[in-house]
Amino acid sequence: MTKKSANNLAVITNNTFEATKAANLHHYDISSALQTTLDFSEIITIFCSKIEKMVPHSAFIYKNAEFNVEIKSGVFAKHSCNYALKVDQQQLGELKLTRNTRFPESELRLLESLLCCLIYPLKNATLYHQALNMAYTDPLTRTNNRASFDSALKREISLANRNSNNMSIIFLDIDHFKRINDDYGHSCGDFALASVAGWIKDSLRDSDLIFRYGGEEFVILLSNTDFNGAKLLAERIRKTIENHTLAYGMDALKITASLGVSSLGEGDSAESIIERADTAMYEAKNSGRNRVVAA
Ligand code: GH3
Ligand code: MG
Ligand code: MG
Repeated sequence: MTKKSANNLAVITNNTFEATKAANLHHYDISSALQTTLDFSEIITIFCSKIEKMVPHSAFIYKNAEFNVEIKSGVFAKHSCNYALKVDQQQLGELKLTRNTRFPESELRLLESLLCCLIYPLKNATLYHQALNMAYTDPLTRTNNRASFDSALKREISLANRNSNNMSIIFLDIDHFKRINDDYGHSCGDFALASVAGWIKDSLRDSDLIFRYGGEEFVILLSNTDFNGAKLLAERIRKTIENHTLAYGMDALKITASLGVSSLGEGDSAESIIERADTAMYEAKNSGRNRVVAA
């Protein structure tokens, strides 16, 4: 949301909520329906259908940049009203309604009081999704953590099988990482881990998923990527890491990594595809490190 577009939005805040608390009592039906879910899409869809009779509209669009959410439905028309939703300094996204006739002041006021029913369900959904993100994120490297890996891999495999798509994985282990800790200290090791994770992320598409699999090991899930594509990407990641220099205080460190690649084949299970990538990565280690082996 740009500053300019934000200026054009009416802002619904906690103060508006206090002012219209009495009016909200009449909207008990909406509030209780919204308490049944923590899903952004369901909350917005329920809200817009519940207010349809009081504030008729032909379409709505809801955007929440923090969670990359965009929900829209209906036929967009000439007249619109926009609301930036916010409570306790917490941004809760923007909602826009449109229709063919203009929204008179009286209807906007009614809508604003109805919107107050939406604020706390959206805040609860925000807190829930923030907590989920934290539970599945490794705080040091800002990658997905191991706890989320097994279910993500199973989901990617079944999606690829259902749509007859390619799917590949890359195992990556930093070479001689122990030496970095031994020579420069543990906090330098931490800095190196976070940096390598950042370099890998910069090489990936939005749809690729990166996980911290263990101490200095990462695994990358590549949807819609065949064996050759995965090998090329692994080689690009290897070169990216090799070409960087880590500046730590007065020291300049070079880092390399060994990578193993495997692609989903017929009859593959989560265990078998992992085992091939892991074995390939160990082969890369045993044949001299700083290389890619595909199996
Ligand atoms: P190889 O090339 O064979 O992979 O050698 P390596 O030294 O990278 O492998 P090894 O398994 O012997 O050592 C891994 C090291 O990673 C040991 C451990 O202390 C370090 N490590 C694991 N997690 C962290 C972390 O979160 N922070 C830091 N600083 N070090 C970590
Ligand atoms: Mg290791
Ligand atoms: Mg290692």
